[in-house]
Amino acid sequence: MSDYVRSLLSDEQEQNLVDAISQAELQTSGEIRIHLEKSTGKYSAENRARYWFGKLKMHKTEEKNGVLFYLAIQDRKLALWSGEGINQKVPDNFWQEIVDLMITEFKEEHFSEGLIAGIKITGKALGEFFPRKNDDIDELSNEISKV
Ligand code: CA
Ligand code: CA
Repeated sequence: MSDYVRSLLSDEQEQNLVDAISQAELQTSGEIRIHLEKSTGKYSAENRARYWFGKLKMHKTEEKNGVLFYLAIQDRKLALWSGEGINQKVPDNFWQEIVDLMITEFKEEHFSEGLIAGIKITGKALGEFFPRKNDDIDELSNEISKV
């Protein structure tokens, strides 16, 4: 485990995040993932979020309803990237409220709390557009992706 990830999250906090994703996915067929990396390099956070969305094969869910929470730890940058199915259904400002809430927590150094809050709202909101079905499959791992 990279030191920079550990500087952000303890083992316990990481497990809490995985649990939060599992809980959120009980409300929706949408699939939520978190990706952590050290830096965006020369790219924007949105660019990197889009890249990792593809790299993690998040565009391959049946309803195209994956959501990636991307965090560049050293740069303190956050971006959300969501699948086409979601973008077709939700209003343009859908994510802004969630991002704003998370950034408020991050500014207080509350990283896991901020992520958990974002995941909870996302699960609830996605549940309205993509309710969970009885035969739901966990299409994407709930584990945190990190490099
Ligand atoms: Ca699912
Ligand atoms: Ca999942």
